[in-house]
Amino acid sequence: MGYIRRIRSLGFYLWHMNHMLTHMLIGMVYAWILREVWQQISTQYIILAAFGSVVIDIDHLLYFFTYGRHEWYAFEVRKLLRQGQLRTLWLFWKYNHKSNTGLATHNVYFVGFFIFLSLLSFQHDWKTGVVLFGAIVLHLIYDMFDDVMMLGHLNKSWKSIKHKPYHEPDSVEEVTAAAEY
Ligand SMILES: [Zn+2]
Repeated sequence: MGYIRRIRSLGFYLWHMNHMLTHMLIGMVYAWILREVWQQISTQYIILAAFGSVVIDIDHLLYFFTYGRHEWYAFEVRKLLRQGQLRTLWLFWKYNHKSNTGLATHNVYFVGFFIFLSLLSFQHDWKTGVVLFGAIVLHLIYDMFDDVMMLGHLNKSWKSIKHKPYHEPDSVEEVTAAAEY
C-alpha cells in the first residue's frame, strides 16, 4: 500500500512540476537557437540557459520571506511549511500563485529591462548576457502567456511596477476573480 501511495505521490509532484519543466524546455530551445546563430555552444551556456529560465522565480521565495511576508498568502505558505504539510502547500501554491498580485519582478517593466540587457549583450557579443537575460525574458513571456491560458487574462501585477498587496479572497472562486479588474 505504502509503495503504491508513494508512486502516486511521485506522479502528483511530477504533474505539478510541469510548469517548471516547460520553462526549462523553452530555455533549451533558446540554447539550440543560439547554437544555430553562433554555430556552436558550450555546455556552460546550456546550463546557464537552464538556470536563466527558472532563476526569476526566486522572487516567489523573496515574496514569502521578505517583502510580501505580511500578506495572507505568504503567511499561509509559511504556516504550511512549518507544519510540514508539503502536499497541501503544493496545492495551495498551485491554486493561488497565478493570482498573486504582489510579485515585484513579474511585470512588463522587468520584461523591457531584460530585453534591453539582452540586446545590449548581443550588440557587444557578450554571450553570457545573451543567454542569461534572454532566458529570463522567455520565462516572463511564457508566464504572461500562461496567465492568459489559466486565468483568461493577465494578472494585474504585470501592468504596474507598484506593489499591489495580494488580499485574501472571500471564497475559492474569488481566487481567480481576484486578478480581474
Ligand atoms: Zn515566473
